[in-house]
Amino acid sequence: MAKNNYQAPTGMHDLFQGELDQMARIEQMAKRVADFYGFEKIATPILEFSEIFEKGTGAFTDIVEKEMYTFKTKGGDILTLRPEITPGVVRAYNQHGMQNLPKPVRFWYLGPCFRHERPQAGRYRQFNQLGFESLGAEHPIIDAITILVFYSLLKSLGFKKLAVQINCIGDSQCRGGFKKALSSYLRSKTSSLCVQCRVRQKKNPLRVLDCKEEKCEAIKKNAPQILDHLCKDCSDHFKGLLEFLEELEIPYNVNPYLVRGLDYYTRTVFEISEDTEDGKAQGSLAGGGRYDGLVKLLGGKDTPACGGAMGIERVINLIKARTKEQPPKEPTCEVYLTQVGELAKRKALKLFEQLRQANIKVAEGLHKESLSAQLKQADKMKVKYSIIIGQKEALDKQVIIREMKNGRQKIVDMDKVVRELKGKI
Ligand code: ATP
Ligand code: MG
Repeated sequence: MAKNNYQAPTGMHDLFQGELDQMARIEQMAKRVADFYGFEKIATPILEFSEIFEKGTGAFTDIVEKEMYTFKTKGGDILTLRPEITPGVVRAYNQHGMQNLPKPVRFWYLGPCFRHERPQAGRYRQFNQLGFESLGAEHPIIDAITILVFYSLLKSLGFKKLAVQINCIGDSQCRGGFKKALSSYLRSKTSSLCVQCRVRQKKNPLRVLDCKEEKCEAIKKNAPQILDHLCKDCSDHFKGLLEFLEELEIPYNVNPYLVRGLDYYTRTVFEISEDTEDGKAQGSLAGGGRYDGLVKLLGGKDTPACGGAMGIERVINLIKARTKEQPPKEPTCEVYLTQVGELAKRKALKLFEQLRQANIKVAEGLHKESLSAQLKQADKMKVKYSIIIGQKEALDKQVIIREMKNGRQKIVDMDKVVRELKGKI
């Protein structure tokens, strides 16, 4: 790479004030929902032993096969930059013996994830996930609450055309029969599948249903449906969930081909997207489901669980697209602090801090020398008042307060400026 031409790694981005403010706002709103429903915040390491994802997310998933950033440490450990956070939360639950806590144990989180995918709209190599997980309860009301927290959070963020897709993919009892039926259907269509799905068909046929290639989408349409193969327990569980969603008036669509890209799901899977042009271009905003086998798979006791995660960048992209046409914000400062000369600069710096303590937002040109340049800037920012401190004012411990719209000026003692401005703004 040429010197002085360094770029952030492909698919990874610098975030600036605007995006970071949005992210903080989303986090704040998530905290409100989380507090209400009793989710506690958790932060797990960004790195985990690779095995957690190989076993948990699944060896034959796109994430584990193609998208993980995995490396050997100097000490010889094989670690992975987390592609998702659920397996880390489950690992923490097991490691800290949380199976003895009152159930369900509820967590929420926000943090960066890493997937070596092809970057495109709403798809990056580093992105942030915000998730909610509930461990220790099997009842479908838990699945309904999981969907509800994402749905309400997205609603409160101003999304109006949310579409919830939902499916039940069975459990170890009934999935075997479905896999067989699907395999035999896919075998009859091998020649029409994409190259990857020809492999998937043998290793993990369910994955074919998750393929986004046009060819495979077409084949999906006539494939056998898992809903016809559900055992009674799974079927009752799904019906129970749908009834809760109806009660909550969350509109949903049963999509019998929704399977999602991770192996650990059992029974419920769901995705939420925004039904607009920009929304469709990016894919789902949030997704999740039930993972009754994962805790045990990662070395814990048999523990049912359910959760999901939302992509922060996709949410922010849609909020940005939505607010693009709105008029620019009103100026945030009503006061501009100007100064001329070294003594005035010192006095201005002190006053600036006093104004901060008094919670008066002030813009300044403390590094500038020329008064006219500072006043020009104050004009541009459309502030209501300028404070002017020249050599004379600095010596007299006074300032001039200038009303910008009519140029009217008033001399005020330095120690009365805060009170004077508080009365004006
Ligand atoms: P997709 O089908 O779009 O690839 P996914 O099923 O891989 O999504 P999940 O693993 O369920 O996604 O992750 C939950 C959420 O995280 C997604 O709904 C999406 O908002 C976000 N997400 C997933 N991958 C990316 C990515 N590469 N860049 C940005 N956001 C992502
Ligand atoms: Mg994906």
